[in-house]
Amino acid sequence: MNAPERLAGPRATTSLVSRHSPLASTERQLETLARLKLKNFPPALRPADIEIFQINVGKLCNMACKHCHVDAGPDRTDAMMSRETVDLCLAALDQTGAKVVDLTGGAPELNPHFRYLVDECVARGKRVIDRCNLTVLLTGPCRDLPEWFAVRGVEVVCSLPHYRRRNTDLQRGAGTFERSIEALKRLNAVGYGRGHPRLRLTLVHNPAGAFLAGDQKSMEREWKQGLAENHGVTFDALIALNNMPISRFLEWLQSSGNLEQYMALLVNAYNPATLAGLMCRTTLSVGWDGRLYDCDFNQMLELEARRPDGRAAHIRDFDPAALAARSIVTGRHCFGCTAGAGSSCGGALA
Ligand code: SF4
Ligand code: SF4
Repeated sequence: MNAPERLAGPRATTSLVSRHSPLASTERQLETLARLKLKNFPPALRPADIEIFQINVGKLCNMACKHCHVDAGPDRTDAMMSRETVDLCLAALDQTGAKVVDLTGGAPELNPHFRYLVDECVARGKRVIDRCNLTVLLTGPCRDLPEWFAVRGVEVVCSLPHYRRRNTDLQRGAGTFERSIEALKRLNAVGYGRGHPRLRLTLVHNPAGAFLAGDQKSMEREWKQGLAENHGVTFDALIALNNMPISRFLEWLQSSGNLEQYMALLVNAYNPATLAGLMCRTTLSVGWDGRLYDCDFNQMLELEARRPDGRAAHIRDFDPAALAARSIVTGRHCFGCTAGAGSSCGGALA
């Protein structure tokens, strides 16, 4: 077996959709995984109560990273949540006991209804998480967001592949690291990342290649030291995620000849201790067009949540009882969540 490869850089890419790549088709992605000589994902999963209401407000992003599982980018204006769907999300939220609203994209901040949605969730007493790529905070309409978030106590969960410039720029494009550090400094300046429970700043790491995320706790220590000493930046916690074998990361795995090796790595590292904490068990994921999913990864593969009567679930006819009785849709991509220490929106699981 060859040594695991790293993502080649330093340029970012463009969306699969804009390149008319065959892998822009989610069916083609699923077929690609199905063709591999591997065992299938074994366990049947059932949902518990909804704790996290995750809303993906669209695929528009100011960046176009190679590992992106969303196929997001500056060209993805085709996939943006409307105000009508935002209001349907709020009405559905009111029917659940979810205490956390997790906003993701693309760059969620670029949706024109983002601030309205945040304000409505805060007014409902929800803890709001913004999944932020950092660099968006330097773009024109978003420059005031650090202060705006601080006033509302929004938790900011930021992707930063690595505390070293080279690793981050390899994955996200040249110059990304410098802009990310500038954005982190702005968040620090308004009180984020300094231990205040209302101003939590969490960083998200994912590996720059065909290997599993390292030990979360020791990485957090190393990153805190590295960012503080070299850049004067502080943060509260680090979460480490495995790269999911879907979308642009799947494309890279395939084109670099790493697909079989990476999938074997995930399957061989299957850890049943991660099952109880899988995010699909306590999260409901809403797509930009109102379709409902068990998680953000199923959303990107268009594997819709199915009610017990077999109908695909949609926010416009939100039915918490029917959703509670569903089975979670799984596939080989799920090995990305159960490998090693596990991987979820909240980080390692075991
Ligand atoms: S910043 Fe996030 S959503 Fe945007 S292209 Fe990169 S990985 Fe995808
Ligand atoms: S991808 Fe992960 S979170 Fe989604 S259904 Fe599979 S195991 Fe659950």
